[in-house]
Amino acid sequence: MFNNFTLQNPVKVIFGKGSIAQLPKNIPANAKVMLTYGGGSIFSNGVHEQVINALTGYDVIEFGGIEANPTFETLMAAVEVARKEHVTFLLAVGGGSVLDGTKFMSVAIPFEGGDEWNNIVKRKAKYGEALPIGAVMTLPATGSEMNSIAVISKKETDEKFGMGHPLLYPQFSILDPETTYSLPKRQVANGVADAFTHVMEQYLTYPVGAEIQDRFAEGILQTLISVGQKTIANPEDYEARANLFWAATVALNGWISVGVPQDWATHQIGHELTALHGIDHARSLAIILPHLMRYKLEDKKEKMIQYALRVWELSGTDEELVEGAIQRTIDFYESLGIPTSGKAYGIGDATINEIVKRFEERGSAFGEHGDIDAKAASDILKMSIA
Ligand code: NAP
Ligand code: FE
Repeated sequence: MFNNFTLQNPVKVIFGKGSIAQLPKNIPANAKVMLTYGGGSIFSNGVHEQVINALTGYDVIEFGGIEANPTFETLMAAVEVARKEHVTFLLAVGGGSVLDGTKFMSVAIPFEGGDEWNNIVKRKAKYGEALPIGAVMTLPATGSEMNSIAVISKKETDEKFGMGHPLLYPQFSILDPETTYSLPKRQVANGVADAFTHVMEQYLTYPVGAEIQDRFAEGILQTLISVGQKTIANPEDYEARANLFWAATVALNGWISVGVPQDWATHQIGHELTALHGIDHARSLAIILPHLMRYKLEDKKEKMIQYALRVWELSGTDEELVEGAIQRTIDFYESLGIPTSGKAYGIGDATINEIVKRFEERGSAFGEHGDIDAKAASDILKMSIA
């Protein structure tokens, strides 16, 4: 059944060439701004300079060094600085990791309860306050620019957890496709694969007669399939970059998830692979999804056939369509240079046993039927290294 839903996405998206110049219209003139960034790409591609020029006259401090898969440890160091400096506005400049990390900071800075890992990331405490955030997003992938999700890692324990809360929506996100020209091919491919998998997690479940969501999801998948390769082949194709950016944004901004069942087991198992093996986020997903499709073939059959027919435009018997759906998904990841076998990363029994232990301890159960538990995750992981 098409489920009831409430949708309120408050993010102001400012899209296009030269849009960084609009920063001053969107940040209060008397703000004390903390500009957060990652490992330095914003200096080599000129984005830092554009941001600083736009912020002429503002009181700005900077915090750099937020890692890919942002760590609690680094972010707490940033939180300390922000508290001491009485920062009132956070401006994240970079990829999903910088923005996710900044989302966590926005809640952690005013939080007075201590133990921010358990209380904030693992949601042990209620929090009702956050600093406002703006984003200059430079990497189409996560959709973090228009959602209320953040994924935070903890170095000390090799853990990675997602958190979601309405306070985590940025107030605005600036998306200038030209800032993505400098991305290495590997990051473009990762972004395409991450966005593709976001759509699949919300689409490839069971039909509930939600036609807009389905057609919209299929349109995003087809767009990613066509612009992914174009972008990699021609990094300065503005139209391809713009389409890729917007596809990644709408892949995870709530529009296709409303009213429909969702899976998310691929992400949850993938997070463990990143936490334990340091595998890039998107790459961890490609190891899981095709095998999960086979493992859940009966449950997902109807939607797999729809996916084969509408997204890949295949024809044949039901069995041929289902096989075609799995094979096209594998071929798609591989065409981006992303392996779909856990063997490529040396995943073995030790990793699988650790994930089983964690899922058992947490009582984890994912998937649209809530039945992808420790045992199912173990079966899927074993299929991925067979
Ligand atoms: P990322 O980790 O933010 O960045 C990956 C790399 O790309 C970094 O080395 C970064 O360099 C570089 N980079 C970024 N923009 C660049 C540019 N324009 N030119 C050149 N290099 C650039 O990658 P991401 O895929 O956006 O984020 C991944 C994280 O997001 C993971 O932790 C994942 O779990 C999480 N995630 C979040 C959501 C969500 O909804 N919030 C959804 C899915 C995944 P610098 O560090 O030097 O800038
Ligand atoms: Fe993701």
